[in-house]
Amino acid sequence: MPSADSKGLATKHASTIAAWGGEETPLAFGAAQVPIVQSAPFAYADVDGWLAAAQGRSEGHIYSRNTNPTVGVFEEKVRLLEGAEDATAFASGMAAISNTLFTFLRPGNRIVSTTDTYGGTSKIFLDFLPPMGIVVDLVDTEDADALEQSIRKGARIVYLETPSNPTLKLVDLRRAIAAAKAIGAISVVDNTFATPINQHPIQLGADLVLHSATKFLGGHDDAMGGVLAGRRELVRQVYHYREITGASLGAFAAYLLLRGLKTLDLRVRRQSETALAMARHLLAHPKVDAVFYPGLESHAGHAIAASQMSGFGGVLSFAIKGDFEAVKRCLNATKLAHRAASLGSVNTLIGIPGTTSHVECTPEERARLGIPETLVRYSCGIEAFEDLRDDLDMALQHV
Ligand SMILES: *Cc1c(COP(=O)(O)O)cnc(C)c1O
Repeated sequence: MPSADSKGLATKHASTIAAWGGEETPLAFGAAQVPIVQSAPFAYADVDGWLAAAQGRSEGHIYSRNTNPTVGVFEEKVRLLEGAEDATAFASGMAAISNTLFTFLRPGNRIVSTTDTYGGTSKIFLDFLPPMGIVVDLVDTEDADALEQSIRKGARIVYLETPSNPTLKLVDLRRAIAAAKAIGAISVVDNTFATPINQHPIQLGADLVLHSATKFLGGHDDAMGGVLAGRRELVRQVYHYREITGASLGAFAAYLLLRGLKTLDLRVRRQSETALAMARHLLAHPKVDAVFYPGLESHAGHAIAASQMSGFGGVLSFAIKGDFEAVKRCLNATKLAHRAASLGSVNTLIGIPGTTSHVECTPEERARLGIPETLVRYSCGIEAFEDLRDDLDMALQHV
């Protein structure tokens, strides 16, 4: 639920919002930092006060599956960062995605999306929605004409994700959102890769924007979470679905996420700079076949990226010259990167689609999605570029 915003943060810069958003003083006990309110229910001095809070006539929390003060600060920061009317948080990114889809989709509805969505999301599209009588059309991510044509056939939801995982394909948000608007569909954008530092889907017309907060928003690989922001009337419906079905964010995770969020602007700017420098470096590397990064002029989606993003993000991928054994030798040799499944952390992370974004897919399915088996995904941390470059150069000598 949005709070008063007495500091006028809605018109301030992202770094100011991240530091102060939702922190209406005085905080409980006069604390200067947001307390972790680790309590399932909230107690009242008398029944009248309890009733007033339960009926929304006065401020107050009832039960942490519905709302929690620490979670509320995290939601308010994201709401302000995304320029949204409202925001609601979840236990994970997949909870945000599944709750949003299940709130609005009914048997007979149609949903239009792209082939390159996050692995878990595409599993919902392929395995869970069709048995519920929902028609799913997944269009080639880079075919803007086909996407527009499919949307024109009618849809309840148009679900977009850009840049995509792991080959960083771009979707033209303005065009797809305009097509969704024209038919009265709800447009949803997964903004996890771009972050609200580099991309503002709501300014581009989107109804809803969501995140795996586990990634850049939290930024420290120490907490799971998800968040949805956008038009109030829609967010309230998803909030209601979540408060009943229960995929709520816990107070401790919310505290870690909002602590991480305070440095979002600093981290993402550094990570985006490093990723661009690394992509340029790898482009000229003799052991590298192809580099996928929207900041490269040679990238198929560069023009779209430049028109809708203010930075190109902290994640890149590249294909190694050699076989899968060579990929393994390179990954095993890196010293300044965790071989781990996530992205967006202060520490650099390295992975292959078979163990990260597309672990659920067979090699044939990955081939069909145009994901080479020699692809390496590289999520830049906040380390110095020179040190990461030297580490990767050393590791690539093992190819
Ligand atoms: C990780 C990720 C998700 C899923 O989020 P979880 O927090 O792991 O549930 C969804 N979308 C994108 C783009 C992701 O990277």
